[in-house]
Amino acid sequence: MALQLYDSFTRTLRPITAAQPDGVVRYYNCGPTVYAAAHIGNFRTFIINDTIRRVLELQFGSDKVRYVRNVTDVDDKTIRQAKLEQRPLREITQKWWNKFSADCRALGCLEPHVEPAATDHIPEQINMIEVLMDKGHAYRAADGSVYFKVDSFPEYGRLSRLKERELKPGSALAAGNTGKDTASVDADEKEDGTDFALWKAWKPEDGAVKWEGPQGQDPGRPGWHIECSAMSRKHLGLTLDLHTGGVDLLFPHHENEIAQSECCNGVKFVRHWYHSEHLLVDGKKMSKSLGNLYTLDELTEMGHAPMAVRYALLAGHPRKQLNFTLDSLHAAAKALANLRQFRAKLGNQSGDTALFDPVFAALHDDLNIPGALGALFSIVNRGPDGVDAETFDRVMFAFGFDLTEPEQAVSEAPAEVTALAEKRWAAKQAKDWPTADALRGEIQAAGWTMKDRKDGYDLEPAG
Ligand code: AMP
Ligand code: ZN
Repeated sequence: MALQLYDSFTRTLRPITAAQPDGVVRYYNCGPTVYAAAHIGNFRTFIINDTIRRVLELQFGSDKVRYVRNVTDVDDKTIRQAKLEQRPLREITQKWWNKFSADCRALGCLEPHVEPAATDHIPEQINMIEVLMDKGHAYRAADGSVYFKVDSFPEYGRLSRLKERELKPGSALAAGNTGKDTASVDADEKEDGTDFALWKAWKPEDGAVKWEGPQGQDPGRPGWHIECSAMSRKHLGLTLDLHTGGVDLLFPHHENEIAQSECCNGVKFVRHWYHSEHLLVDGKKMSKSLGNLYTLDELTEMGHAPMAVRYALLAGHPRKQLNFTLDSLHAAAKALANLRQFRAKLGNQSGDTALFDPVFAALHDDLNIPGALGALFSIVNRGPDGVDAETFDRVMFAFGFDLTEPEQAVSEAPAEVTALAEKRWAAKQAKDWPTADALRGEIQAAGWTMKDRKDGYDLEPAG
């Protein structure tokens, strides 16, 4: 069985394959910007990618997948944060990088084979910019910034299927062709409004953040897009087998990466593009700018186990938006408890290794995780007879579910359940036993148990 993923470039479902004779799948996943704690929306993307990597490792062998995930440690946001805290840039980014790594570990993500940071690859980025200038794909603007000349690459816009008119200077798309960075110069200084920055000349607000620029001129810093072109080339080579990120990266970031890499290297940049969908809160994308986010710490402080967070973030189809609710964490904790109990019953028994084929078939079919979980639980519900323990463990590896994690008590019941509990407590005080019993049933139906004490009650997740 082979993993097929929807390819955003060809818009078809295609198998992931290794192009090089060594059979290694070269896999690049755009990483986080490290200026604050990543939110669980970001982690949805990274957990989905970790799952892809696990499924590929099971298919190709663990030494046949090379997974690189970068760290963006210089851009407008990181510089702004360092300035705000009056600390060196690296101090700020290192702190949040460490936090990101710790959260990834807690969420069961395997370490990337390489985790390169943009500021550790300035010469590689300068080199690419110089090649692009030499080949006539880039030019220096009046302020010393260097821009990629979008006109010079006729293929531009193929990934995102941009229409000509949408790319006209002054259009919303052209104005937005910056990504994480805001435009550093007026549109007038670019030859064309769609051109994007490869190098950003130093400005006073950048403070101490600057490096010697391309051709030894104009100190400044690299633009955001060039880092991924340079770091993927250094750590994976000219052509990647798989390149991924959240859907918001498709334009302009990935479109710009293609332009930079193909114009510089003269060969195809990426053989397979995969983009996963966003985590929403109340129908809106979870994001730092909207402030509608949860961090892992916030959830663990409420008593939720990181593994339950992983489960909840994986429970929806990766290419569909997923609305996050705290209730989904209770369901996830229950599901994991079921898996843990089932695993305990298996011991090291051997059984029918083909039993889990439907689970792998769903995973291989465009990472249909809900389908795979459905197939898994239909086996779990039938009971442990004839189930092969080792194959079950392979399935757990694919999902990244660590069942050894101790179950954490979930202290915070949702508001509806607390309201029912309050009503039941009042009914009990009034010795209205039929109402109290009916409410107990409702609380149970919501997945909670109300344990009475002399002077009050505790709410615990059922089962
Ligand atoms: P950033 O740190 O902003 O560069 O984002 C890191 C990754 O998280 C990118 O792949 C984004 O596409 C992804 N991302 C950002 N917001 C969300 C969200 N609400 N749901 C899922 N992925 C997201
Ligand atoms: Zn990137």
